[in-house]
Amino acid sequence: MSKSVSHSEDDLVFLDKTVRVSGDYKSGANKDVWQVMIIGADADVHTATAFALNNVEIQNRPLAFLHAYTAQQAREILAQEAHIAVILLDVDQQDEGLQLVHYIRDVLHRAEVRIILRTDQPGYTPGIDAIQQFDINDYKSKSELTQIKLFTVVTAAIRSYEQICTINSSSSGLDMILRASTELMALQSLEEFATGVVTQIARLLDVPPDGLFCVQEQLHNQENALFVVAAAGRFGDLINHPLSSIEDASIDRTLTRALKERRNIYGREFSALHFTGNASSNFAAFFRTGRPLTEIELRLLEVFCSNISVGLSNITLVTRLHNFAFYDSLTKLPNRTRLKEIIDDSLSSSKDLPSTLALIDIDHFAETNDTLGHQFGDLLLLSVATRLQSRLGDHLIVARVGGDTFGVLGDDIQVNPAAILAQFERPFSIDGQDVQLSATVGLVRLSEHDGRGVEALKNAHIALKRAKFQQRTGHLYFSRNMGIDIRERVNMMHALRTAFEEKQLSVVYQPQIDMLTRQPVGAEALLRWTTADGSMISPNRFIPIAEYSGLIIELGEWVLRQACQELVRIHRLGFTDFMISVNVSQVQFRHPHFLSMLRNALHDTQAPPHCIELEITESMAMDEPDALIKLLDQITATGVSIAIDDFGTGFSSLSHLQKLSVDRLKIDRAFVTEITDSSRGSSIAEMIIQLGRNLELDVIAEGVEDERQAAILTELGCPLGQGYLFARPMNADALHSWLVTQKP
Ligand code: C2E
Ligand code: MG
Ligand code: MG
Repeated sequence: MSKSVSHSEDDLVFLDKTVRVSGDYKSGANKDVWQVMIIGADADVHTATAFALNNVEIQNRPLAFLHAYTAQQAREILAQEAHIAVILLDVDQQDEGLQLVHYIRDVLHRAEVRIILRTDQPGYTPGIDAIQQFDINDYKSKSELTQIKLFTVVTAAIRSYEQICTINSSSSGLDMILRASTELMALQSLEEFATGVVTQIARLLDVPPDGLFCVQEQLHNQENALFVVAAAGRFGDLINHPLSSIEDASIDRTLTRALKERRNIYGREFSALHFTGNASSNFAAFFRTGRPLTEIELRLLEVFCSNISVGLSNITLVTRLHNFAFYDSLTKLPNRTRLKEIIDDSLSSSKDLPSTLALIDIDHFAETNDTLGHQFGDLLLLSVATRLQSRLGDHLIVARVGGDTFGVLGDDIQVNPAAILAQFERPFSIDGQDVQLSATVGLVRLSEHDGRGVEALKNAHIALKRAKFQQRTGHLYFSRNMGIDIRERVNMMHALRTAFEEKQLSVVYQPQIDMLTRQPVGAEALLRWTTADGSMISPNRFIPIAEYSGLIIELGEWVLRQACQELVRIHRLGFTDFMISVNVSQVQFRHPHFLSMLRNALHDTQAPPHCIELEITESMAMDEPDALIKLLDQITATGVSIAIDDFGTGFSSLSHLQKLSVDRLKIDRAFVTEITDSSRGSSIAEMIIQLGRNLELDVIAEGVEDERQAAILTELGCPLGQGYLFARPMNADALHSWLVTQKP
């Protein structure tokens, strides 16, 4: 037979240069047809096969034939076409055929394509091993292959090809989602996250990135407007613009509908995705896919969207926590924490102009507040804030550092007492009422200051206090002799050391309970100093001194060993799940022998490590990330767990928090106290509980004082609590008897 057989126009012709080459990007042709490759020298067989299978459609897709007459041609086509479903291979000489199969499976690594061997030499069969080894679907003699038979064999092969592809793409899709989600979670800002989503979705669907990501915010004036935070492809110009500025208004409408109906909308050539955000914002994304998505892609996309939603809600939570942590909610000015940072920055950058920090305290504000009411007081503070900000000059930082205390940071010339006090000469007008205020100012010249922001603020406070004390409506600059009496500190240091040696220090334990069952689960070890005359000195006063003097290293080890011994005793009493938390100060933690100290204490006391928890403060958790990550991993390796104490007062970035081996967040007492009188929806406690849930961290509330707080915390899903409501700190003996009375 000659090879003059003409191929019908519809067939894909194998040597035609226009055969589409599919690289990474799946060509449309492959999605629309099932490619069947016929390999064999006999042109009649080619024609007969194509004829037999002509007009066959499987799942609404026609077949397209690729013809190869020699092994070499077959290799060329295989190199170009990545999505061949079935190969009908004529094997007349055993070796050549099997060599090609070997090439397909082992060299090209095409595991999906189904291979059917045909022969017209009756009696010739490849060994069963070869069939298994090369995953050969079927083996038929040509005479056996009637038209009907051929149809059945090819249909079965296509079905199984499709199943294999589905399994492969869903598992590689899931794998991609997993990796993409982890990558996305590490991004901190909404913009970065959004850009990541656009690229990752394009990658997942294997389409060029051509889409946009919007945030829908409930603004006062523009209701539910959509803003584009990230975009790629033809939407690139829309970044940071309202979506309403887009030419194709149908996109805006589709996204709004997706958000309203809280579902994804898929079109023939696009996907409109919605992500349920957290509380006040919602998110949506629009993609041009250029083709309908397959069933499996739709399912993968749904999984990815729900992962994205979790990431987004973490990001919005963290942004809001960040705002709570750094900005005053009334005046929207930076708060004390933020001001401290700004001062640190300005101290570390050598600016040409020397700068000054001023603290401005409004005189008799408490009285005004009491007589005229809190609402009036708030308005008054707002107008002071506005005036300071607008009148003192540009490039100044105005912050609210306390109830009625503002901080101003700027260059020496602008920040001066006369200029500041001049702002209080005119009355403030509130609700049509004129109120005359006066203020006192304490100032620190940062050029004369050698410390960090904290100390600068402390010194300004000292100056302010002196100014208030000496002359109302006045000001004072800080000078060294105003500093805390060093002698006093030195005295206290000696007294503390003596107290430690004379065993005036003791450890008390405050129970931690399961809020639902009200059963104790553990206790926090707290240090106490009872002086010879029986009076108590608060750890808040002496711990800083112990840290300053280095005594905390010894003291901290002692507390840890006490706690470990106590734990062993309590376990012996039968409370075998009981845990004890021990506070660890930054100085201790940074000590090069901390880890070995911990290991020795555990070893010597035989305390079970999984029942010991170390509490570190949030500010410590933010320090020197790399060293900290490593140390926390090493600590966790001992079996001991880690809690972040006073959580919410400092600020942990999400990505940072995720990298730390941390087990528990302790909601600071301040946020628990706040619960009673604040609107619940926006409480920080609630956000921390939610963050804990998202990051799979345990959460405990500190300083629970009344049933109302306990009830709200329980309702919010906080599992554990500690506070005067349940039990006060008590000594070891008292704890033992208390535990016995608590037995159900
Ligand atoms: P912390 O670790 O946040 O401990 C909780 C503090 O809140 C304790 O104060 C506790 O007595 C108090 N507290 C607990 N429940 C309530 C409540 O319902 N209402 C109120 N108003 N307060 C409650 P304490 O014992 O005075 O300790 C103060 C801080 O001193 C601790 O704060 C901790 O940071 C530090 N500290 C105490 N012992 C140690 C220690 O052994 N080592 C180190 N490095 N620091 C310690
Ligand atoms: Mg603590
Ligand atoms: Mg605390």
